Amino acid sequence: MVAGHFLCLLGSEGDETMIKLEGIHKHFGSLHVLKGIDFSVAAGEKVVVIGPSGSGKSTLIRCINLLEKPSEGKVVVDGVEITAPKAPVTQVRESVAMVFQQFNLYPHKTVLENLVLAPTLVKGIPKAEATESGLAFLERVGLKEKAHVYPAQLSGGQQQRVAIARALNMRPKIMLFDEPTSALDPEMIQEVLDVMVDLATEGITMVVVTHEMGFARRVADRVIFMDEGRILEEGTPEHFFTNPVQERTKLFLSRIV
Ligand code: ADP
Ligand code: MG
Repeated sequence: MVAGHFLCLLGSEGDETMIKLEGIHKHFGSLHVLKGIDFSVAAGEKVVVIGPSGSGKSTLIRCINLLEKPSEGKVVVDGVEITAPKAPVTQVRESVAMVFQQFNLYPHKTVLENLVLAPTLVKGIPKAEATESGLAFLERVGLKEKAHVYPAQLSGGQQQRVAIARALNMRPKIMLFDEPTSALDPEMIQEVLDVMVDLATEGITMVVVTHEMGFARRVADRVIFMDEGRILEEGTPEHFFTNPVQERTKLFLSRIV
């Protein structure tokens, strides 16, 4: 399988730490949003982040690729401290792909052009190669026949699958997802989750902010519950379903499950 061949090149499983956050604080003006986060993710690990709106989930994962710069603390990605003064931030960012709630596809480019643009421009990958791998990833998300249409001709679920294929075509080691199904109509959520579940069978490291607990149960090695800028509780999906310890966790889960 061609797509499988390309996915083999993504990430690597093992004991090594892929992401490490140490003592992270983030302030937006007088707002103290992250209040001392220590958080590590092993290579190949799948982590799901849950928590109430405003608890700092997006800010936390945006610190992993420096879309947000921590006010304090250290971020190490794949052995490189990206918060260091002269860190090769651009280089590290190339190995961290992010999928957002809003798909952010380029509206005036075809689906395939959306996939080919960044690898050729940012990574200098030859166009023919990026096109070939792009088509393989489109096939993987079930959209090869849409390669030459424009994003507006696709449903929300299809656009989000394209956004995932686009992220994969950068051959990242880490995939960050920030509520990737929250903007979708209910009937389109499953098709996007299915693609993510499929992706999770590969060695790629994944950090996913989502309230889809069915997804968490199927793929997460670990679930993290955030509340008011702190990690309040963490454990296996089973832990959260059977015996969450903190009252706030119980309350949160009772509202979403
Ligand atoms: P979550 O993703 O858990 O809903 P966020 O990380 O988006 O939470 O936001 C945490 C808090 O930080 C919220 O109070 C939000 O309003 C605030 N915040 C997030 N981004 C910014 C920003 N760029 N400027 C000011 N405040 C922000
Ligand atoms: Mg958010």
